Amino acid sequence: MKYEIVRDYIGFGNARSGENLQDVKYIVSHDTGNPGSTAYANRNYFENVDPFASAHTFIDDNTILEIIPLDEKAWHVRANVATDNRMYGVNANNAAIGVELAYGGGINFQEAYQRYVWYHAYLVDKYNLDPSEDIVAHSTLDPARRTDPQNALNQHGISWNDFINDVQRAYNRYFQGNEGITEPVVKGASVDLPLDIGDEGQFVREVQRDLIRAGFSLPIYGADGIYGQETQRAVMRFQKRYGLTVDGLVGPQTLDKLKEVLNTSQPLTEFTLPNGILRRGDEGAGVRQIQRALKRVGFDPVYIDGIYGPRTEEAVRDFQSTFSALANDGIYGPNTRRYLQMELADL
Ligand SMILES: [Zn+2]
Repeated sequence: MKYEIVRDYIGFGNARSGENLQDVKYIVSHDTGNPGSTAYANRNYFENVDPFASAHTFIDDNTILEIIPLDEKAWHVRANVATDNRMYGVNANNAAIGVELAYGGGINFQEAYQRYVWYHAYLVDKYNLDPSEDIVAHSTLDPARRTDPQNALNQHGISWNDFINDVQRAYNRYFQGNEGITEPVVKGASVDLPLDIGDEGQFVREVQRDLIRAGFSLPIYGADGIYGQETQRAVMRFQKRYGLTVDGLVGPQTLDKLKEVLNTSQPLTEFTLPNGILRRGDEGAGVRQIQRALKRVGFDPVYIDGIYGPRTEEAVRDFQSTFSALANDGIYGPNTRRYLQMELADL
C-alpha cells in the first residue's frame, strides 16, 4: 500500500446520521471549495458546526481522512438534483462515496492530488468499479451550482479525463492483481479536545504545522506529532498574542483563531446559524448572523445591523426562491437554516 488511510469519525448528528449506505455504485469526486482548508480543518468544521452536509473522505497533502464510515450515508450531493438518479438509477447520497480534495493555501497540490488519485483507485478496487463509468464529478451531477473538482484540478492543468486516466493507472499499478492486499494500513487518531501534553498523532502534527505557518516556530522537534513542552510553549505564545486564555491547551477557541490567522477568509465557525424562527420585526445577534451568512452566500441583505427589516426579508426570499423545497415566505426557519448551512459548507 502506498498511503495510510486515517479513520477518525465525527460524532452522530446532522452531518452523520448513521443511516446505512446501500451497495456502493459510484464515487462522487469533489473539492472542498475552501482553499487552504486541510482535511482535519474540514473534520473539525463538520464535527463542531455539524451542518446538514458532509462527505466521507477528505484528502490533503498529508492525510487521507475518512470522517464518516464508508458503509454509512454522507450528504454530499443536493437531494433535489436528478442527474444522479438519471445516470445511476439511485440518489448519490444513498449509494455513492463522496471524496473531497483539499487544495490551495499551504497545501502542496501534487502531494494532495496523488493521494486523491490513489484513494479513488482504492475505492475502485474495494467496490469493483469502473473508473471510466463509475466516477462522477460533483459538477456533472449539479452543473448549475457546482464546479468541483474541476475547479481545483484545472488550476493545475489537469482535465477530468486526465484525472480518470490517472486513477486507472493507479489502480493498475497498486491494486490490480494484488489479491489479499485489499485493506490499507489504518491508523486511527482520536481527537479529544483540548490537546494537551502527551497527546500524539496526525492531528497534533497538523496543529504543529499550522503553528509554524502562523509564525510560532518549533525549532527543536518541529511537527513531530507529539504534543510536548515545546509545542505547549508555542501554543501559549500564540494564545497570548491573540488575546486568548493562556493555558497551553488547544481547544476550539485556539483552533478557530489559528484557522482565522492562517486563512484570509473568515472562518466558517463565524457563520453558526441561530435555531428557531426569525421574521420581519425581529432583532438581535441571531438576525445579524443570518445577515452575514446571506451576504456570504451571495444574497446581500444590504444592512448587517441585526434588524430583520424589509431588505433582510427580501434577501431571505431571494435565497429561498432558488430552492424548490423551500417556501418563498421570507421567514427564517429550520428548513431555510438547513439550506443556508449547506450553502455555507460549500460542498
Ligand atoms: Zn462538491
